[in-house]
Amino acid sequence: MAPLSNSLATPSPSPPPLPPNPLPSLPPPRKLSLSSRELPTLKALSRSPKKTMVCPTSVNVRITGLTPGPHGFHLHEFGDTTNGCISTGAHFNPNKLTHGAPEDEIRHAGDLGNIIANADGVAEATIVDNQIPLSGPNSVVGRAFVVHELADDLGKGGHELSLTTGNAGGRLACGVVGLTPV
Ligand SMILES: [Zn+2]
Repeated sequence: MAPLSNSLATPSPSPPPLPPNPLPSLPPPRKLSLSSRELPTLKALSRSPKKTMVCPTSVNVRITGLTPGPHGFHLHEFGDTTNGCISTGAHFNPNKLTHGAPEDEIRHAGDLGNIIANADGVAEATIVDNQIPLSGPNSVVGRAFVVHELADDLGKGGHELSLTTGNAGGRLACGVVGLTPV
């Protein structure tokens, strides 16, 4: 017989074993870090819940170098600090609502209220919020935290800026929400 027939008659070698799944147990990234290129220093960690969608996101905040008292603290729409914190755009507001307090139904998703700096200029807080998920269409990964110069009036100050920014003044520091090794 011709070699070709022999070849065809030869049983195929068994296929190579499938490579083991290289990522059998790798959890999804679930840690956020927040840092600032500017003073005051700003650090925060956030962990996404194990189950997505309905579980809140918790943000652990520690910011130093502030003037004592309340400072507006928001998630802004862009993780862009090309021109400093001004490049982070407006409050993250996927539902096109007016500015409010974190507990209000009518609020920007990014409205996280105020953090309070103590006499040493240190603000520490744990913020737990349902509107800043780490996955899905309204994910805040790639957006930015901003701490403001003044108190956020939570939309109730009667100022012309109350319903857009809470009249919280300038932007002292900002940091992009990103993924880091867990
Ligand atoms: Zn707002």
